[in-house]
Amino acid sequence: MTDYGSMTLDEKVSFLKHVRIFADTGEVFLLSLATVLQGVKAKPQQTILKKGEPGDAMYIVTSGTVRIHDGSHVLSRLTVNDVFGEYALIDDGSRSASVTTEEESYFLRLRREDFENRLADDPGLARGIMKVLVHRMRDMNELEEKLAKSYIKIQKQKEAIEEQNQSIKEAKDKMEEQNFDLLHLNEEKNHLLSVVVHGLKNPLTSSLTMIDMMLNDPEKACEEHRDYAGIILNSLQRMNKMINQILDINVIESKVYHLNMERINLKEIVEKISNIYKHTFDQKDIDFRLSLEDLHAELNEVYILQVIDNLVSNAIKYTPAGKTVSIDLVSKNGKVLIEVKDTGIGIPRQLIPGIFDQYERKKHHLQQLDPDTGLGLAIVKKYVDAMNGRVWCESEAEKGSSFFVEFDLS
Ligand code: ADP
Repeated sequence: MTDYGSMTLDEKVSFLKHVRIFADTGEVFLLSLATVLQGVKAKPQQTILKKGEPGDAMYIVTSGTVRIHDGSHVLSRLTVNDVFGEYALIDDGSRSASVTTEEESYFLRLRREDFENRLADDPGLARGIMKVLVHRMRDMNELEEKLAKSYIKIQKQKEAIEEQNQSIKEAKDKMEEQNFDLLHLNEEKNHLLSVVVHGLKNPLTSSLTMIDMMLNDPEKACEEHRDYAGIILNSLQRMNKMINQILDINVIESKVYHLNMERINLKEIVEKISNIYKHTFDQKDIDFRLSLEDLHAELNEVYILQVIDNLVSNAIKYTPAGKTVSIDLVSKNGKVLIEVKDTGIGIPRQLIPGIFDQYERKKHHLQQLDPDTGLGLAIVKKYVDAMNGRVWCESEAEKGSSFFVEFDLS
């Protein structure tokens, strides 16, 4: 059926007889219904009903196909002799879903007002509409049952996933625990290494200085003893090289992430280093001066000891007899400033910018005790950076050097 308007009344009635909703309706009433039904023509993809909008009529599909949908989710498809929008015949609530044509389609439209006018005269019409509603309810029950079943299935899958999740989480926790242990162990190892190396470095530097003096002062040692001293110097140099390798920058970097910082009494630290070198200063005939304020900073003890030790041992190394080495500890603009100053051989101006780079040993010094190193100042820089401080150098050839280390006051 395409054009309802062009059909005769008989044709309309015989068509309506095949529509399920009118199966129990008497012929007389079908005749009166036939006069109030309106023929509607729709293009493909035309929206007939929109979810949420008020409804006042029911539609019978006489040709074509429509989809019942909620947004892009299709609930069902209806075709010839099916009806939709029948709830609107009973109440004036809003549409529960949208209806859109799939192709060119034709409908008969029954308005609530016309339906109500005829309902009282024909109980068959009420039965017909009730049948359609019951049918819809059965469909819904079936759907509900299916939903319940898939809900149970989903629930079971969810439980299985949760179980898997739990075991993954347990495995992850265990790995994290092991990882933590490893990190801790590594940290311990690095710490131990720093302590041991630091402990070795001081006596070694003193020994190297003394042997050097023995070798260069014929009055203090006979030739035979100087030969022995040469052998000892060789061994000490090998040990020094090894120690500097252990102090390699990689070791420092791996430790930087887990640095243990604490409130350090800097005066005590400087005094500790000074005591170690007191004898060496006397032996080398270097005038050693201290001027220390009582100051504290948030630092790592092993690192700060190593920093000052490296600067002082350099000062001794590069300062000839009769000259001066001094350490000043002062507070300045909320900072702690340590200055290790010597009146030794100094550093040519052009060499200062790269002085803290690794292996920057400058060849201008004649008296080189351990020619394989050149790490001392690189280590100083790494350690000071790791403790959030600043280090710099001021020097001039022949006029001595000053190394400054600065931290926040605590
Ligand atoms: P090393 O002393 O083992 O060569 P460092 O990194 O400690 O290595 O020092 C790098 C270079 O900086 C030294 O070789 C030396 O040329 C120069 N230097 C460091 N401290 C002083 C100083 N107090 N006086 C003169 N030169 C210095």
